[in-house]
Amino acid sequence: MKAAIAKVVVDIALDREFDYRIPSHLTATIRIGSRVNVPFGSRTTQGYVVGLAESSPHPQLKEISDVVSKQPLLTDKILELTRWMGRYYCCPVELCVKCALPEVVRKSKISWKERQFVRPVKLTLDDLAKLAKRAPKQFHALEILRKTDGLFVVQLCEQAGIDSAAIKKLAKKGFVELTDKVEERDPFGGEVFLPTEPLPLMPDQQTSLTLCKAAVEKPEKPILIHGVTGSGKTEIYLQAIEHALHHGKDSIVLVPEISLTPQTVERFRARFPKQQITVLHSHLSEGERHDQWHKIRSGQSHIVIGARSAVFAPVPALGLIIVDEEHETSYKQDEAPRYNARDVAVVRGKLERAAVILGSATPAIESFYNAQRGRYILSSLPKRVDHRQMPVMRIVDMRQEVIRQKGLHVLSRRLRDAIEARLAKKEQVILFLNRRGYATHMFCPKCGYVADCPNCSVKLTYHRKAAQLACHLCGDIRPAPKVCPNPECRDPAIRYAGMGTEKVEAAIQAAFPKARAQRMDSDIMTRKSLYREIFRDFRVGKIDILVGTQMIAKGLHFPNVTLVGIIYADMALHLPDFRAGERTFQLLVQVAGRAGRGDVEGEVVVQSFTPFHPAIQHARQHDYLGFYDQEIEFRQQLHYPPATRLVCLTIRAKTEEKALFFSNALVRELRKHIAGNDLLSEATPAPLAKVQNNYRYQIIVRSPQIMRLTEVIAKVVTGTKLPNDVTLAVDVDPVSLL
Ligand code: ADP
Ligand code: ZN
Repeated sequence: MKAAIAKVVVDIALDREFDYRIPSHLTATIRIGSRVNVPFGSRTTQGYVVGLAESSPHPQLKEISDVVSKQPLLTDKILELTRWMGRYYCCPVELCVKCALPEVVRKSKISWKERQFVRPVKLTLDDLAKLAKRAPKQFHALEILRKTDGLFVVQLCEQAGIDSAAIKKLAKKGFVELTDKVEERDPFGGEVFLPTEPLPLMPDQQTSLTLCKAAVEKPEKPILIHGVTGSGKTEIYLQAIEHALHHGKDSIVLVPEISLTPQTVERFRARFPKQQITVLHSHLSEGERHDQWHKIRSGQSHIVIGARSAVFAPVPALGLIIVDEEHETSYKQDEAPRYNARDVAVVRGKLERAAVILGSATPAIESFYNAQRGRYILSSLPKRVDHRQMPVMRIVDMRQEVIRQKGLHVLSRRLRDAIEARLAKKEQVILFLNRRGYATHMFCPKCGYVADCPNCSVKLTYHRKAAQLACHLCGDIRPAPKVCPNPECRDPAIRYAGMGTEKVEAAIQAAFPKARAQRMDSDIMTRKSLYREIFRDFRVGKIDILVGTQMIAKGLHFPNVTLVGIIYADMALHLPDFRAGERTFQLLVQVAGRAGRGDVEGEVVVQSFTPFHPAIQHARQHDYLGFYDQEIEFRQQLHYPPATRLVCLTIRAKTEEKALFFSNALVRELRKHIAGNDLLSEATPAPLAKVQNNYRYQIIVRSPQIMRLTEVIAKVVTGTKLPNDVTLAVDVDPVSLL
């Protein structure tokens, strides 16, 4: 293709791209990734080429003025990866390119931070003796400086207890040399970690590591490590990375959400030297993100740890990508490009000839299916390290409990007794409920009024402490009424039903007034440092009972936690999504995995109204294979992934009629193109039919051949003109159908 047009994202309007003509003398130099000067309005600004095209729908285009830097920021391989993403996820390549480059790197506003740096120069003894006599303070500073290769001026001032004027005087006398030097903004500052050594491995770990090492040397298929919680997967990752380092290769480690996995990240940082490792996370400042990215791009960082977007980390010598907790849905981006970082990792590994390791205690059904079909190599770790027992899981039938306790209570007697026993032994307890707030809805028993969100098709959640009703979808908040809001009723006896973490906390405080209970959910996480503070307090035993949402379900390791209570196991089970069973199974096993990680055997109490559901029963037996077998049969019979591939199209509009009209038009168009064994649904209201005053309709398309399907969809979508107030989202391999 001879590109005549460049799509440019300009620094002053980052969310749009503009077409520019490429002057002929620049056609050879301009590539995707080039920084360019372009005329914009009445001035010139810098921008970034995110795409090339042969033609443009806009008739009158301005020309690119010149190229700022010839070295593009994206490597060829990452460019190729973004092109694959564009095809696979039915989305413009420009969006994928933007996704691969952090905004702070795309725009030139932020650069390296330079600071004054002072170096010692060679001096005669005579000079030194004179200085010691005349300016003892400056002499003292010089003595400190002479023990180093140089320091930032601020550092020297601090260490010698002088001000910068004194250093300037030293420079004037020619005793030191002042320059500007880049100072890396280090997000971890002075934090230090006790270094750890590789552990001697258990036999299963050894087998698994041998596979991983072979893959690092000669990558073939991705490796799926299916290891129960506490089986030592992280130790395998650490040693595989070390092996890659020995071979001069860089590693990328993906973790679900850094803020939720602080302990995992700490283990990596304790094993490798600080300067080799970069942690990318959402709390970095722009400056820090800029520095870390360029440090990676220039090959100074050999291990990158980060959440989803770290899959694009531009390490020059990629040898290994690890995806920890590969089943996690947070690897999927919920706006375009709707990519799954795990799957992008597999493709990147293939493109760059790097090993890919996926690890989980509860692999996604898709991943295990791939292993069964020989696309991945399976490595199993069925036992915990040191043969620690898996926690015993007891299921409480809440239907019986309601009869016995004459009503529904947060705590069954069994769970209450278990908590009491653990507290008596000074052990710790985690209680899990994946819903925040106090009650899930408010209603009036007299007139039947229910408090719905005015903007969304969900009920409002009651938050007792704040005395508010809140919508967890759109954020609408209003004071909780004291009487029924129905003007014809006004009855004061309004009721709250259903429960959230706030209610669990209240129930704990009522039942165990002496216990120190702490709630942890996004309502109380008002400061980012609170995570660490609460986890630290829990670790040192200042908290007896931790009550929380999914925030406490992942990757945590507290040896003194011997009891985990799951307050309502059925919550995810009744969602209208074919993965409801899988999600429930994963959650139970993962939460249960927090118990018994020390020397004392752990126990899990699961409260459920459907105690015989296969997801709950298999979780109870810690039986992944049993669960997989029955789940894959169900998926095959009903044509759900991974037995087939699925794309979900969601149409949003301000009125229901409009949403339906354009959805139907789209279905008609799709029907013309899809193949005989593809399945195309009618347009139906999405399970969340209205969100933020937008009506949502869904079309589900299934096909055994994903690439052909996405090609067809891309064609139909680009050929369909939608009005400005109607939007369409294409989600390939969706992780949720709500
Ligand atoms: P996973 O990631 O599978 O949940 P971890 O790697 O966190 O498991 O291991 C669980 C615990 O066992 C950790 O405290 C870890 O330090 C320890 N551990 C892992 N491998 C070994 C080993 N070979 N010998 C002794 N302890 C180990
Ligand atoms: Zn709402």
